[in-house]
Amino acid sequence: MAMEHPLIKDCWFREINDEHFPGQALMLKVVEILHWSKSEFQDILVFKSAEYGNVLVLDGIIQCSERDEFAYQEMISHIPLFSHKDPKRVLVIGGGDGGVIREVVKHDCVESATLVEIDNAVIELSKKYLKNMSTSLNHPKVKIELCDGFRYLKDAANSTDEDRYDVIITDSSDPDGPAEAFFQKEYFELLHSALKDDGIVIAQTSENIWLDINYLKNLMKTAKSVFTNTKYCYTMVPTYTSGQLGLVVCSKDENNELTSPSREITDREQNNLRYYNASIHSASFVLPTWADKVINQK
Ligand code: SAM
Repeated sequence: MAMEHPLIKDCWFREINDEHFPGQALMLKVVEILHWSKSEFQDILVFKSAEYGNVLVLDGIIQCSERDEFAYQEMISHIPLFSHKDPKRVLVIGGGDGGVIREVVKHDCVESATLVEIDNAVIELSKKYLKNMSTSLNHPKVKIELCDGFRYLKDAANSTDEDRYDVIITDSSDPDGPAEAFFQKEYFELLHSALKDDGIVIAQTSENIWLDINYLKNLMKTAKSVFTNTKYCYTMVPTYTSGQLGLVVCSKDENNELTSPSREITDREQNNLRYYNASIHSASFVLPTWADKVINQK
C-alpha cells in the first residue's frame, strides 16, 4: 500500500504554517513519497515532486528541492566566502543535506570546513535521495560533528585565536524546532567570539520582506547589537514561501562593505556556479523602497 502523509492530499504536498505564513500556503505536486520517519529531533519527509525533483521537508517545512537548491546554497556560501579576502577555516552549523559544504569546498583557499549537524538521519537520507547536494560530505577537507550547533559554538567561542573561524554559515532549519536558539542574541554573541578579527557570519532568517518584515527588523536589531556591521540580503528560491529568503550577514571588520566580493572570482570558479556572480552579490543587498526603510531603519 502507498505511504500516506498528513500534509499530502490528492497528490499535493501543502506547506501550511499559520504562525509564520498566515493566510497563504505553498503546494508542490507529489509523484511519490520516498521516505517518512520521525527522528529523535524532527519529522523527516522526502518526496519526489512533479517539477522540482526530490524534496526534503523537516517538521512540515520545505528545506530544499533538487531543482532550485543552488539558489540558496550558492548565495549563503559565496556571499560571505567572496566577501572575505582569504577564508581558510569555515564552520557550517546545520546543513546536513551537504549543499553548503559542496559550495564551501569549491574555494581552493579553504583549508578546513566543519559541519555541525544535530540529526544524522538528515545526512544519511541526503546521501540516498539528494545525491547532487551531499556529494562533498566525504571531501578530505570536511569534518562532520554530530551534535547541537549551539553547544558546539559555546565551546568554539572559548577557543584560542588560531582555532577561531574566518567564516561561519548558519544553515539551520526554522526557529520552531531544534534550531530555535539560532535566532537569539546569545547566539550572535557566541558567533562573534568564535570568529577571527576579520571574520564574517551569515544566517538564513526563515523569513522575507513579504511574510513578516517586523520580525526581520527585530532580527537585524539583535544582530546589530552584537555586530555593528550587519547587512540584509536575499536570494530567490521558488520553493520557499513567497519565493524569497532573507539572509543576515555580519562582519567583525567595520571596514568590510560586504556588498561586493573582496577578491577576484576566477573564470574557473565562475564556470562552476549557476546563480552567484559579482553583480548578483551586490544586487542582493538592494531592497524595494518600503522594505529598505523598515529593515535599514531610514
Ligand atoms: N536550506 C534549509 C532552509 O533554510 O530551509 C536548511 C537546510 S538544512 C537541512 C537545516 C539543518 O539544520 C537540518 O538538517 C537540521 O537537522 C539542522 N539543525 C537544526 N537544529 C540544529 C542544531 N541545534 N544543531 C545542529 N543542526 C541543527
